[in-house]
Amino acid sequence: MSIKVHHRACHLCEAICGLLIETDGAEIISIKGDKDDPLSRGHICPKAVALRDIHQDPDRLRHPVKRITAETGETTWKKISWEEALDTTARRLTDIVQRDGVNALGVYLGNPSVHNYGMMTHQNNLFRHFRTNNRFSATSVDQLPHHLTCLWLYGHKNLFPIPDIDRSDYFLMLGANPIASNGSIWTVPDVKKRIKDLKRRGGKLVVIDPRMTETAELASEHHFIRPGTDALFLLGVLNTLFAEQLANPAHLTPYTTGLDEVALAITDFTPQLAERHTGIAAQTIKGIARDLAAAESGICYGRMGVSVQAYGALNQWIIQIINIATGNLDKPGGSMFTLPAVDGISTSGPGGFARHRSRVRNLPEFDRELPAAALAEEISTPGEGQIRALFTGAGNPVLSTPNGANLDKAMEGLEFMASLDPYINETTRHADIILPPTSPLEHDHYDVAFHANAIRNTVRHSEAVFDKSDDSLHDWEIFTELGNRVATILGTDTAPSIPPDQIMDMGMQTGPYSESQGSEFRLTMDVVRASPSGIDLGPLKPQLPQRLRTVGKIIHCATAEPIADLGRLRDQFINLPQSEDEPKPLQLIGRRHVRDNNSWMHNHHRLVKGKNRCTLMMHPQDMAQRNLTDGGIVSVSSRVGTVSVAVQAAQTMMPGVVSLPHGYGHNRPGIKMKIAQEHAGVSCNDLTDELALDELSGNAAVNGVPVSVSAVQDAT
Ligand code: SF4
Repeated sequence: MSIKVHHRACHLCEAICGLLIETDGAEIISIKGDKDDPLSRGHICPKAVALRDIHQDPDRLRHPVKRITAETGETTWKKISWEEALDTTARRLTDIVQRDGVNALGVYLGNPSVHNYGMMTHQNNLFRHFRTNNRFSATSVDQLPHHLTCLWLYGHKNLFPIPDIDRSDYFLMLGANPIASNGSIWTVPDVKKRIKDLKRRGGKLVVIDPRMTETAELASEHHFIRPGTDALFLLGVLNTLFAEQLANPAHLTPYTTGLDEVALAITDFTPQLAERHTGIAAQTIKGIARDLAAAESGICYGRMGVSVQAYGALNQWIIQIINIATGNLDKPGGSMFTLPAVDGISTSGPGGFARHRSRVRNLPEFDRELPAAALAEEISTPGEGQIRALFTGAGNPVLSTPNGANLDKAMEGLEFMASLDPYINETTRHADIILPPTSPLEHDHYDVAFHANAIRNTVRHSEAVFDKSDDSLHDWEIFTELGNRVATILGTDTAPSIPPDQIMDMGMQTGPYSESQGSEFRLTMDVVRASPSGIDLGPLKPQLPQRLRTVGKIIHCATAEPIADLGRLRDQFINLPQSEDEPKPLQLIGRRHVRDNNSWMHNHHRLVKGKNRCTLMMHPQDMAQRNLTDGGIVSVSSRVGTVSVAVQAAQTMMPGVVSLPHGYGHNRPGIKMKIAQEHAGVSCNDLTDELALDELSGNAAVNGVPVSVSAVQDAT
C-alpha cells in the first residue's frame, strides 16, 4: 500500500471545489471535499466522486485513432502512432488551407476547454497559423450576451460583475438555477448554504423562471414568467425605478453617464405592459423594483435562461443598468468585480464585435468567433470561404448547438476533420483522426477563467494526481506539436514550448498580488504551490473607476446597440402584438440537473443511475388538454425536427411551457460511449432552431422554442 492524499480542484463545473483525492498507486480510494479550501470550504456535489469514473472510463481513448471506412460503409477505428496522427493532421489542414484559403478551415471549441488551462494557453500555437474567420465555440449558445454587455459598459468582454451573495440583502435572479449548476458566470460553491444564510439574516431571494426550479423552491418568492418576455419584466422594474424617482447610482455617479437617456428610451415599457405578456402582475413588478431600491445592498442577476433567447443581449444590458441605477454595482453585497492573481483583464485585449460577418447569413462575429448556429451552413453552402476542414476541441456541437441533426449531416460532407477529444461521440465520429489528451487527473490544473468569476479572491494550483504515460500528450502539447508541424510546412517560426504553469507564474509575478506591485502576498507559482488548499486573497473590494477599461474610465449607460434593439421588442409586443385570442404554441425550455453538465458526463454510471432524467416536463393541465398520460411516450415537434420522449407531469412547470434537459441524444450510430448509449435520451437540439437567434448578439435562442406535443403511446 502506498496511500497518498492529493489536493485537487474539481474541474467539472464553474464552482471549482477543492478536493482531497486519496490514492493507492493507480487506484483512487476516495474523493472528499477539502475543508481548508478558502472558497469551497469542504463543499462538493455528487459529480466530484465521478472523477474516478472519468479517469478509469474504458471508453476514454488513450491513443490516437484513425477512422477507416470500408466499401460497405462500415466504419472502424484504427490505433495509430502520435507521429502519424500529428503529421497527417498538420499536413491535411495545411493542404486544404493552401488550396482554398484560411477560411476553408473551421474551428469549434467546446465548453470544457475553459476548464483546462493548457487548452487556453496553448491553442494559438496551432491557430495562429490559420487566422480563419470561421471560428466557433459554445460561447454563442451560452454566455455571449454577458460578454457583449461587459464590453459595452465596462470596456472588457470578461469584466463580469459577480453577485456578492454573502453580503447581500436582496437577490433578484432570472433564468438561473445555481442549486443544480453551482453557479455560472458566478463561481459560488456551496450556494445552498449561502442562500440559506442570506435568508437567515433577513435577506430575500426572488426567482423569476418559467419553472419552479430547485433554486426557486429555496427562494423567498418565485414568479413564473413566459419564456422570451424577460426583457419586458426587467424594463418594468427599470421603468418603476425611474418613474418613482428610486434610481440613484450613488457612488457611481461621478463616472456614469446616460441614465437619463435610458429612462427616456424606455418610458413605454411599463409594468402594465409587462403584466400583459410576462404573466407577472404589474404590482408585483413595482414591488420588486421598490424592494431592490430600498435594500441596503441588492443584486439583479440573470443567467442561461435570459441569455439563450431572442433578447439575450438586451436582457443582460438591462440587468446591468438596473444594478447601476440602484447603486448596487461595485458595492459590497451588490455586483462586484474580482481581482484574480493572474489578471486577464489588464493583460488581454478587450474583445470586439461585428468586425467581420459570416459568409452565408451575414451574422456578426464576437471576439473573432461566429455564431455556432451558422456552423452547418458554412460547411454545406458551396462558394469561396466554404469550410472544407474542421478542427474540434473538447466540443460536441452535434448535441450542443441548435439543429444538431443538420450539423450532423453537414459534417458528412467535410473533406477532413480532426478532433482533440477523449471520446468517439456524436461529433467526433465524423473525424478522420482523433487526438486524445491525457486524463484531467494526469495534468496539473489552474483555474484561469473561474478564479476571475468567483465570489471571493482566492488562488490555487493543483498538481497532477497521476503521472502520464510516456505514450500520451497533454492538450497543450498536442497544440504545440501540431503548430510546430504546420510551421515547418509553411516555413514559419515554431513556438517555444513553455508549459502552462510557467505562463501562470509569469502572470502572477506581474499580477496584482506580486512583489512587484507591493503586495503582501508576493505571489509566485512556488508560493501558491506551497499552499495546496489555496490562498485566501480576501473578499471582493470596490474597484471602480480604476478597473474600467472604457475610454476615460466612464460607464456610458446609453449604449446605442441595445437602445436600438428596444425597437425590435417594441415591434413584437407593442406595435404588432399577437392577439390575445390567438392560440399560443407550447414553448420549450432547457433544464439542468446537479449530476449533469455536458454531454460527456453521461458515460458514467454514477451520474446517470436512477430514474430516467431525460423526460419532457409538462404541466398536468397541458397534458389533460392533449390526453397525455404521465410516463407515456409523446412526440415533440418543432420547425426543424421531431423527437419521441417520455412525458413527466410536473406542477413545477408554468402552463404552456415544457422542458427537456440538454446533452442527451446518444442514439446516433457509431459512437463509442457504452453507458451513454444505454441512457441515450433525445437531444433537445434536434428541436432547437438554427434560425432562431438573438438578432442583436447572434447568440442562439434555444429557450422558448415553439413546439407541439402529441401522444405516441400510453404509459401502460
Ligand atoms: S459543484 Fe462543481 S466543482 Fe464542486 S464538486 Fe460539484 S462538479 Fe465539482
